[in-house]
Amino acid sequence: MTEASTRTNLFNLDRPGLEAFFADTLGEKRFRAQQVMKWIYHRHVTDFAEMTDLGKVLRAKLEQHAEVVPPTVLFEKPSADGTHKWLLGMDGGNAIECVFIPDKGRGTLCVSSQVGCGLACTFCSTGTQGFNRNLSTAEIIGQVWVAAKHLGNVPHHQRKLTNVVMMGMGEPLLNFDNVVRAMGLMRDDNGFGLANKRVTLSTAGLVPMIDKLSEASDVSLAVSLHAPDDALRTTLVPLNKKYPIAELMDACVRYAERKPRTSITFEYTMMKGINDDPSHARALALLMRRMDARLQRENAAKVNLIPFNRFPGTGYERSDEDVIRRFQTILLDAKVLTMVRRTRGDDIDAACGQLKGQVLDRTRRQAEFNRRLQAQATPDAAA
Ligand code: SAH
Repeated sequence: MTEASTRTNLFNLDRPGLEAFFADTLGEKRFRAQQVMKWIYHRHVTDFAEMTDLGKVLRAKLEQHAEVVPPTVLFEKPSADGTHKWLLGMDGGNAIECVFIPDKGRGTLCVSSQVGCGLACTFCSTGTQGFNRNLSTAEIIGQVWVAAKHLGNVPHHQRKLTNVVMMGMGEPLLNFDNVVRAMGLMRDDNGFGLANKRVTLSTAGLVPMIDKLSEASDVSLAVSLHAPDDALRTTLVPLNKKYPIAELMDACVRYAERKPRTSITFEYTMMKGINDDPSHARALALLMRRMDARLQRENAAKVNLIPFNRFPGTGYERSDEDVIRRFQTILLDAKVLTMVRRTRGDDIDAACGQLKGQVLDRTRRQAEFNRRLQAQATPDAAA
């Protein structure tokens, strides 16, 4: 082992973890953790020597036991519409992607949680590549750090990076601990200081883990639905066999009950001739209204229609614009809050479902992933 690999990468520790590290490993006061976090996350300083409000002795101890190592930027690419994509190198020759999408008054970073994905959704580029491994906390929060650094050190109130969505590569609920820890750092005032509702976790529908998330975190929840009935959804999201729509909706109701002020967004990728018929819209509206009724509040369930994005080798096509509008109108007429997501960054393959990165050595790991997913109800150990 090299000396570096025995040091703790501080990007792996959330605030409680960092406080414990200062107290237990360094024998220092816990509040030092906050000072160091401010250097790392507010000023993007990774060299302990530059952390000038820490004493010399403490800096020497940090040098000995810790390091601050962000992901390596292999490649970055701006899009004509302001979208910016980074390809970040992970060990073992793997790479993941993250994307910044500026819009009126907000800037959203789309963050990956795994190298590849084991859920094999048929219309998703990442899903067709298989699973390699979970990202560490450092590799997840490191994506936000790289983007925030690129966007500059600007005062809190005018930050360009205002929202994070866990909608990049991977299924975040299958990498639960690292994702929850990283989302803690996104929201911590000494970290990126984002409001709870500005951090969104998107899931393909791991029912037991949705319940677990409701206990561990207050972030916004998005659920990838894509179909209003089980027969169709199973062809698009194979996980539906294990957790069918009725169970998924029950879990969403439980989540929303625990977070009375938040709504749940249901994502629906629009694919020509597959799930874009008016009958699908009516069935979807019914599902959403039923959820509102169970929770006894309007717009507890919202819909986000995502025009399908092509990727090499896919057999699906994007629904026509007028078909998407008609679909949206049916939902709006049924009083379901429904947005159509504008496609951004498709000139640099940075749109939803186009993130590919580089996923090596996946065959053996995919088999292990499938075995564990079959074997247990709480599959976050599948890493
Ligand atoms: N595993 C998580 C997060 C990753 S996918 C999940 O399933 O939610 C993030 C969003 O992009 C999901 O709603 C997903 O269904 C959507 N998506 C995937 N492939 C797409 C494609 N080719 N075109 C448009 N949206 C896609």
